[in-house]
Amino acid sequence: MCYDVLEYLFRFPPRRMSAITNEEEFEKVKESLAKKSGGAAFRSERFDELSKFVSDALDHQDSDRALTVITRGALSFGCSDVHYDLAESDTVVRFRIDGSLVPVLRLSRQQYKLMLERLKYKSELKLNITNVPQDGKYRIEEEGQKIDVRISTLPVKWGENVVCRVLDSTSSVPKIADLGFMWTSKRQIDKSLSKTNGMILVTGPTGSGKTTTLYSMLRELNTQSRKIITLEDPIEYELPGVVQSEVNEKNGYTYHNGLKALLRQDPDIIMIGEIRDLETANIAAQSALTGHLVFSTLHTKSAAETLERLMNMGVPSYILASSIDIIIAQRLVRKLCPHCIESYEADAAQSDTIRWMMRDIGIGAVEKARKDGFKLHRSKGCEHCGFTGFRGRLWIYEVLHFSEGVRDLVRKGESPSKILEEGRKNDLILMREDGVLKAMRGKTTLEEIFAAIG
Ligand SMILES: [Zn+2]
Repeated sequence: MCYDVLEYLFRFPPRRMSAITNEEEFEKVKESLAKKSGGAAFRSERFDELSKFVSDALDHQDSDRALTVITRGALSFGCSDVHYDLAESDTVVRFRIDGSLVPVLRLSRQQYKLMLERLKYKSELKLNITNVPQDGKYRIEEEGQKIDVRISTLPVKWGENVVCRVLDSTSSVPKIADLGFMWTSKRQIDKSLSKTNGMILVTGPTGSGKTTTLYSMLRELNTQSRKIITLEDPIEYELPGVVQSEVNEKNGYTYHNGLKALLRQDPDIIMIGEIRDLETANIAAQSALTGHLVFSTLHTKSAAETLERLMNMGVPSYILASSIDIIIAQRLVRKLCPHCIESYEADAAQSDTIRWMMRDIGIGAVEKARKDGFKLHRSKGCEHCGFTGFRGRLWIYEVLHFSEGVRDLVRKGESPSKILEEGRKNDLILMREDGVLKAMRGKTTLEEIFAAIG
């Protein structure tokens, strides 16, 4: 069973009735709030510069230089993916920055032909094959910086579309303390990390920064006295001292058989990029029960859905109950630009929404705001944020710690709502609540929270 966000939002009966009394009204407010966020046009002189460099290079038939400029440019803008989208007359190059696509430059048919050849050549794709999808990777090394790029092609009406995932292997892994966990959650994570066995799961959709969270935790544990081995697809960060292995499905090196090989290497700590099937889930759980600390991710929306997914895969509930130690569900939202931020009083609809979303927690800051009115924040846009109002991203979380009470309910196969209720006894905060608290503190907006958990 997979429940949608509304069920998720409304799982707990309201203790305090506010002006919003049913789902329909709430849905309306949510929609109207989402519209306001819009998508500010991102114009920057730096894009024009980049465009000029690329055009110049291509006019001189130097596609290698053009590719380096685009790749380095992507990295300097904090772009995670470069999209080459082909149309009849030209190709639009867009960067995904802080989760949104931004048009950066246009290439003529002739210019794109050169770029495509270079991209395929550098990634060792077959140049003469244009009618089936291909994937590969290339690396750019300059001034001590290594940029790994995963490329995939797709045959489309006008030729081949290309999307490149940019990975900066030299970028530093943040500390756990910088990830923005509530102190109660941070305390539970520290406790899990101090153990020598158990499973720590990080969950969320693609692009929610799961790998970064995993690496931040591995970084804390990375000492001479421990053997840490990872199995990844692809390796996104290089961590000195950690044994990192990359799966290669094409050659039969899968998560499943890789994990078996990895266990023969006498590890203390194992990181598996993703649990996708029962076999991997079983080996991971068994390893956690036999003296290994196991880290992995799942592509699920929430802590509760993670349990359901694992059970649906066929992992027995008693195994889950004893092997999992903590589930961290997370999303990335855009961070308000600190240079052009201003606060404002939430209007009636927003206040009702906040009350509704925070109805289950009674912490001081919210109680006070309930009486005095809620303060929200917005940014007008300035040169620091490319006039978008946002700069960088931050995480919102829910952290379900497996207390004895939670383990007991999981073992009995109780419903997710019962399990979460039990989690409340150990300060479980849901993602929507963490999000609202961060919006009230001026880190992001309500609209961003809705867009992320919707
Ligand atoms: Zn700004």
